[in-house]
Amino acid sequence: MDPAPFTPVRGSCLCGAVRFELTGKPMSLSYCHCSRCRKQAGLSAAVLMVRRGDFRLLSGAEHIRRYTPAAPFKHVRAFCGTCGSPLGEPSEDHEVFPIAASALDDDPGVRPVLHQNTAALPAWHMLPDDGVKRMEGTYGG
Ligand SMILES: [Zn+2]
Ligand SMILES: [Zn+2]
Repeated sequence: MDPAPFTPVRGSCLCGAVRFELTGKPMSLSYCHCSRCRKQAGLSAAVLMVRRGDFRLLSGAEHIRRYTPAAPFKHVRAFCGTCGSPLGEPSEDHEVFPIAASALDDDPGVRPVLHQNTAALPAWHMLPDDGVKRMEGTYGG
Protein backbone atom coordinates (compact mmCIF):
# COMPACT_ATOMS: atom_id res chain seq x y z
CA MET A 1 0.00 0.00 0.00
CA ASP A 2 1.20 3.49 -0.75
CA PRO A 3 1.53 5.74 2.26
CA ALA A 4 -0.94 8.60 2.55
CA PRO A 5 0.22 11.68 0.66
CA PHE A 6 2.16 14.12 2.79
CA THR A 7 2.48 17.80 2.01
CA PRO A 8 6.11 18.81 2.59
CA VAL A 9 6.68 20.85 5.74
CA ARG A 10 9.06 23.76 5.39
CA GLY A 11 11.59 24.95 7.89
CA SER A 12 14.10 27.78 8.05
CA CYS A 13 16.34 29.67 10.43
CA LEU A 14 15.75 33.22 11.60
CA CYS A 15 17.87 34.86 8.90
CA GLY A 16 16.59 32.56 6.16
CA ALA A 17 19.98 31.27 5.05
CA VAL A 18 19.21 27.70 6.11
CA ARG A 19 16.12 26.19 4.56
CA PHE A 20 14.92 22.62 4.67
CA GLU A 21 11.83 20.55 4.19
CA LEU A 22 10.39 17.41 5.68
CA THR A 23 8.92 15.14 3.05
CA GLY A 24 7.38 12.65 5.47
CA LYS A 25 5.49 12.91 8.72
CA PRO A 26 7.83 13.17 11.73
CA MET A 27 7.86 10.14 14.01
CA SER A 28 7.22 12.13 17.17
CA LEU A 29 7.26 15.51 18.84
CA SER A 30 8.31 16.04 22.43
CA TYR A 31 9.60 18.82 24.62
CA CYS A 32 12.90 18.62 26.42
CA HIS A 33 13.27 20.83 29.47
CA CYS A 34 16.83 19.88 30.41
CA SER A 35 19.23 22.72 31.14
CA ARG A 36 21.28 21.90 28.03
CA CYS A 37 18.32 22.35 25.73
CA ARG A 38 17.17 25.40 27.65
CA LYS A 39 20.49 27.17 27.14
CA GLN A 40 20.60 26.43 23.47
CA ALA A 41 16.94 26.76 22.54
CA GLY A 42 16.21 29.77 24.70
CA LEU A 43 13.55 28.02 26.82
CA SER A 44 12.71 24.39 26.14
CA ALA A 45 13.45 22.42 23.02
CA ALA A 46 10.55 21.17 20.91
CA VAL A 47 12.08 18.12 19.30
CA LEU A 48 10.83 16.33 16.21
CA MET A 49 12.24 12.90 15.51
CA VAL A 50 12.67 12.65 11.76
CA ARG A 51 13.74 9.88 9.40
CA ARG A 52 16.83 10.83 7.43
CA GLY A 53 15.07 10.05 4.16
CA ASP A 54 12.39 12.58 5.05
CA PHE A 55 14.80 15.48 5.64
CA ARG A 56 15.97 17.57 2.71
CA LEU A 57 18.30 20.52 3.13
CA LEU A 58 17.34 23.10 0.50
CA SER A 59 19.94 25.79 1.17
CA GLY A 60 22.50 27.06 3.63
CA ALA A 61 24.70 24.03 4.26
CA GLU A 62 27.67 26.38 4.51
CA HIS A 63 25.93 28.32 7.30
CA ILE A 64 25.34 25.32 9.54
CA ARG A 65 27.63 25.11 12.57
CA ARG A 66 27.78 22.29 15.07
CA TYR A 67 28.48 22.42 18.76
CA THR A 68 29.98 19.18 20.04
CA PRO A 69 29.99 19.12 23.85
CA ALA A 70 32.66 17.70 26.11
CA ALA A 71 31.93 14.39 27.86
CA PRO A 72 29.76 13.28 29.55
CA PHE A 73 27.43 15.18 27.25
CA LYS A 74 26.97 13.76 23.81
CA HIS A 75 24.32 15.58 21.81
CA VAL A 76 25.75 17.55 18.92
CA ARG A 77 23.63 20.62 18.29
CA ALA A 78 23.44 22.24 14.90
CA PHE A 79 22.56 25.89 14.48
CA CYS A 80 22.79 28.66 11.92
CA GLY A 81 26.16 30.34 12.25
CA THR A 82 24.71 33.66 11.14
CA CYS A 83 21.56 34.02 13.25
CA GLY A 84 22.01 31.28 15.88
CA SER A 85 18.72 29.48 15.31
CA PRO A 86 18.76 25.93 16.68
CA LEU A 87 18.28 23.32 13.98
CA GLY A 88 18.47 20.06 15.91
CA GLU A 89 20.95 17.43 14.86
CA PRO A 90 20.59 16.66 11.14
CA SER A 91 23.11 13.92 10.41
CA GLU A 92 24.28 11.73 7.57
CA ASP A 93 25.24 9.09 10.13
CA HIS A 94 21.88 8.37 11.74
CA GLU A 95 18.70 6.92 10.30
CA VAL A 96 16.60 8.99 12.70
CA PHE A 97 17.60 12.32 14.20
CA PRO A 98 16.13 15.27 16.08
CA ILE A 99 15.09 18.43 14.27
CA ALA A 100 14.13 21.62 16.10
CA ALA A 101 10.40 22.17 15.70
CA SER A 102 11.08 25.84 16.44
CA ALA A 103 12.55 26.16 12.94
CA LEU A 104 9.38 25.00 11.19
CA ASP A 105 7.32 27.34 9.06
CA ASP A 106 4.44 24.89 8.59
CA ASP A 107 2.43 22.59 10.86
CA PRO A 108 4.11 19.16 10.85
CA GLY A 109 0.83 17.47 11.70
CA VAL A 110 2.09 15.84 14.89
CA ARG A 111 1.37 16.94 18.43
CA PRO A 112 3.57 16.61 21.51
CA VAL A 113 3.48 13.29 23.32
CA LEU A 114 5.91 13.99 26.14
CA HIS A 115 7.50 16.60 28.37
CA GLN A 116 10.97 15.25 29.14
CA ASN A 117 13.22 16.19 32.03
CA THR A 118 10.65 18.27 33.86
CA ALA A 119 12.75 17.98 37.02
CA ALA A 120 15.12 20.47 35.38
CA LEU A 121 12.47 23.12 34.81
CA PRO A 122 13.50 26.40 36.41
CA ALA A 123 11.08 27.86 38.96
CA TRP A 124 10.19 30.66 36.58
CA HIS A 125 9.05 28.33 33.80
CA MET A 126 5.56 27.04 34.56
CA LEU A 127 4.14 24.49 32.16
CA PRO A 128 0.53 24.75 31.09
CA ASP A 129 -1.85 22.03 32.23
CA ASP A 130 -1.90 20.56 28.74
CA GLY A 131 -2.50 16.91 29.54
CA VAL A 132 0.75 15.86 27.86
CA LYS A 133 2.62 13.07 29.68
CA ARG A 134 5.51 14.22 31.85
CA MET A 135 8.73 12.48 32.80
CA GLU A 136 10.87 14.02 35.49
CA GLY A 137 14.16 12.63 34.18
CA THR A 138 17.55 13.79 35.27
CA TYR A 139 19.39 13.66 32.01
CA GLY A 140 20.78 16.55 30.11
CA GLY A 141 22.71 15.83 26.97
ZN1 LIG B 1 20.21 31.88 9.98
ZN1 LIG C 1 17.36 18.39 26.55
